[in-house]
Amino acid sequence: MNDPEPTGTVVAVAPGRVNLIGEHTDYMGGLVLPMAVHLATTVRGHRGGDVVELRSHQLDGVVRVALPVQDATSVLPSWGRYVAGVAAELGTTTGFSGTVDSTVPLGSGLSSSAALEVAVALALGATGSPLEVAQACQRAEHAATGVPCGIMDQLCSAAGVEGHALLIDCATLEVSEVPVPADARIWVVDSGQPRELAGSGYAGRRASCEAAARRVGPLPTADLADIAALDDPVQRARARHVRTECDRVRAFAAALRADDRRRAGQLMVQSHRSLRDDFEVSTAVLDRLVDDLVAVPGVHGARLTGAGFGGCVVALADPGVDLSGSGTRAWRCGPPAAPG
Ligand code: ADP
Ligand code: MG
Repeated sequence: MNDPEPTGTVVAVAPGRVNLIGEHTDYMGGLVLPMAVHLATTVRGHRGGDVVELRSHQLDGVVRVALPVQDATSVLPSWGRYVAGVAAELGTTTGFSGTVDSTVPLGSGLSSSAALEVAVALALGATGSPLEVAQACQRAEHAATGVPCGIMDQLCSAAGVEGHALLIDCATLEVSEVPVPADARIWVVDSGQPRELAGSGYAGRRASCEAAARRVGPLPTADLADIAALDDPVQRARARHVRTECDRVRAFAAALRADDRRRAGQLMVQSHRSLRDDFEVSTAVLDRLVDDLVAVPGVHGARLTGAGFGGCVVALADPGVDLSGSGTRAWRCGPPAAPG
């Protein structure tokens, strides 16, 4: 039996996520299909006072933020910026003292940052719908990092159900659950390559997409012929990725619903190629890992997941396939009740 928590202890848990398909589409109002995973971040402590004070089991330093937050962007250690950003967005005035612990690998594309933000928000007593909590956390991430990320990570962490993928339309914020078939196996394999260029690469990709959208309209529904007619080759390629990726998300959700793993796997491989050739966010290490994984009998498809430039690959496999020795680390991520 677990030891009971001392009276008044707040325990807030938020999961990481793996994006099955729909990469670099969220900030352009497109479709994404993430799935919450069993890896999660826990914030444990007590409310009271007028300071948020947190230690992390994963990173050094003590975060101390006086309330109400004046400036979240200069907090040290830097992971405290996510904490301060959340407290600022929530308008928190009651303090908190405690710890952060996480089984989500940091900086590998499984969204440890959103898991941290959502767990902190819940620990600080955030009220409101999962969408409202997610939106506050998204604004916090913008403030903390200066990176204008989409809503996917925070919404999946706040609203995700383990073993179900969430089809999110990032234009309307409409969410529908897509069950992952019980006999499909989702593996996440860490390439071991840190995502050092992710921040700078992201802003440039986003700017190209926005420039293309000013010419051809919202990319998820833009006419492919209009995209093909764009004279800037970089904008043309970036826009083509977003447009075709949204089609692949829709087709992938249909394939999951029909338990057509072969088709779903093909779409993952196509997504990876589009990220490699049109969006140019893959690396030689990720490309090799995807090739190695799809060569394993019983693996239907694989693709980079997260922003790219390193991090993790997601693979879809049959039961009985063991990818635990692949990459530098690997996790089998749902559906949770399925054996093997
Ligand atoms: P990802 O979200 O894909 O894991 P990010 O670069 O977006 O990668 O976020 C990682 C950052 O989030 C870390 O460098 C750290 O600042 C913060 N972070 C996430 N989890 C923790 C944790 N358990 N303790 C302290 N900081 C964390
Ligand atoms: Mg993140």
